Amino acid sequence: MPTAPKIGLLKGLGLTLKTALTPATTQQYPHVKPDLPPRTRGVIALMEENCTVCFQCARECPDWCIYIDSHKLTVPPKEPGGRSRTRNQLDRFAIDFALCMYCGICVEVCPFDALFWSPEFEYSEHRIADLTHEMDQLREWMDTVPPPPPLEVGAAMPKEVQDGQRAAAKAVEEAAEAARAAAEAAAQAEAAAQPAAEPAPDFDQETYDRLLAEGKSERVAKAKAKKAAAKQRSAAGGQPGGSASPQADDGGSGSPQAGAQAAAAAEPAAEPAPEFDQETYDRLLAEGKSERVAAAKAKAAAAKRRRQASEGSEGDQ
Ligand code: SF4
Ligand code: SF4
Repeated sequence: MPTAPKIGLLKGLGLTLKTALTPATTQQYPHVKPDLPPRTRGVIALMEENCTVCFQCARECPDWCIYIDSHKLTVPPKEPGGRSRTRNQLDRFAIDFALCMYCGICVEVCPFDALFWSPEFEYSEHRIADLTHEMDQLREWMDTVPPPPPLEVGAAMPKEVQDGQRAAAKAVEEAAEAARAAAEAAAQAEAAAQPAAEPAPDFDQETYDRLLAEGKSERVAKAKAKKAAAKQRSAAGGQPGGSASPQADDGGSGSPQAGAQAAAAAEPAAEPAPEFDQETYDRLLAEGKSERVAAAKAKAAAAKRRRQASEGSEGDQ
């Protein structure tokens, strides 16, 4: 049976052992940053655009550690003939964090959402005077303010957000309109800079030369060259500015004339004229001519028809 002092010794050793095996709860700050809740009262941030210099926060602060200076500013009327207005212009807004007790009253009473809590807490100073944060520094703390919690389902969007969305949509619309106007102006300038297309000639020199080379008379060659030029002009009439698109007309052969030839080639070939005119042959036999004479004249009539047919097709070209 152990004596009383020995029991105490064993208890002490047991406690030592338990403590030695329990992990330490000490946070190794500043090497390990504390995981603070997002709404921690670390420092007060100022959104100076929202501040109307109503002095509500300075009046309610129990420590009198908010300092505000301002002056009146005359604003010109929004519309011609209107009255000019005055508004408060913020000159100084400072909070002395050496006096502040972080009660949060100033943030609560601000009617214009100009003050916010930031979880930032690392702003200790060597000099106590440096703990008075001026407007610029309070504005910088806004970057560390966490976003507000999400709205409840079905809640109306805050007016400030609605105004911001409307302003953003309007800005996007104006930018799109300006881009559209600029594109139209550029297109018009480009169209004005392009030289006018040359009118199609009213005489096809190529056809004229070819027909002269084939031994046609000048009169016939001129008439057919004019006809060919008119055909080219009518083919080009469907294109804007009178310029034909060779690819569209002739399948890429390169000129309106070649396009007409290709179109003619695409048509089914006409039946060749016969070498013997049966009708003439029958008629001459009925008139009492001999078979030999009737056959000769029937061949001559067929040859004449062939010649006429070939001349007609050349005229069409
Ligand atoms: S938190 Fe309280 S003490 Fe600090 S500035 Fe605001 S009202 Fe004053
Ligand atoms: S209460 Fe708000 S709006 Fe009024 S002076 Fe203070 S910060 Fe500005």
